[in-house]
Amino acid sequence: MDIEILASGSKGNCYKVKTSDTTLLLECGISFKEIQKKLKFKMHEIDACLITHSHRDHAKAVKDMLKSGIDCYMSYGTAEELEVLNHHRTRIFNHNRNFIYINEMIDNLYVKPIMGVHDTKEPINFIIADTNDNKLLFLTDTAYSPYKVNGITHLMIECNYVKSTLDKNLKDNKINIVLRNRVVNNHMSLETVIGFLKANDLSKLKKIYVMHLSDHNSDEELIKTEIQKITGKSVLIC
Ligand SMILES: [Zn+2]
Ligand SMILES: [Zn+2]
Repeated sequence: MDIEILASGSKGNCYKVKTSDTTLLLECGISFKEIQKKLKFKMHEIDACLITHSHRDHAKAVKDMLKSGIDCYMSYGTAEELEVLNHHRTRIFNHNRNFIYINEMIDNLYVKPIMGVHDTKEPINFIIADTNDNKLLFLTDTAYSPYKVNGITHLMIECNYVKSTLDKNLKDNKINIVLRNRVVNNHMSLETVIGFLKANDLSKLKKIYVMHLSDHNSDEELIKTEIQKITGKSVLIC
């Protein structure tokens, strides 16, 4: 699995995941022009785009993506909020009454959506497996994740803030309590990421991609060192 970071953070998220026979975009939260440029105008190489939720930093280019003929996969709630429910290129992940999603085959990739905890309608995250025993977990814009996932080989995980940095910013009046609570209830902290890493089997894990760091409430060096120390794996801050 080849992973390329096109953009990461609150200003926009977009990641390219390439396997032996399929290329996906995860999120399209920058302008279509920027995506085209970053992909060197080889849009035809993209088989599909997967979107976790309707926030602009994840879905800004959705209408242009659809218009250009790329299938965009998302939850029903996300499609509703993005007003793309009726587009013929929109693909909906369906779930049962218990919010267990129906798995989807996209070319030779097996995609399993899982529920996120975020302030939009029906946010999801993804487990993506290929035929070469690679398994990617893509986890972003979620306060926490209750799932345990076996055999992850590639982990892309949000680490939006560090609790002590956020608390200090609140104390110094750099952010207000409303914003502080919004961050805490919708995004993953370094402490939550560490808890998740400790709870999961990482024996097959090759690399960790840390995404969506906040400009003001995070600490890149600390995040990298801590995650490396706990997992002993290679860590890339996106
Ligand atoms: Zn976001
Ligand atoms: Zn969001």
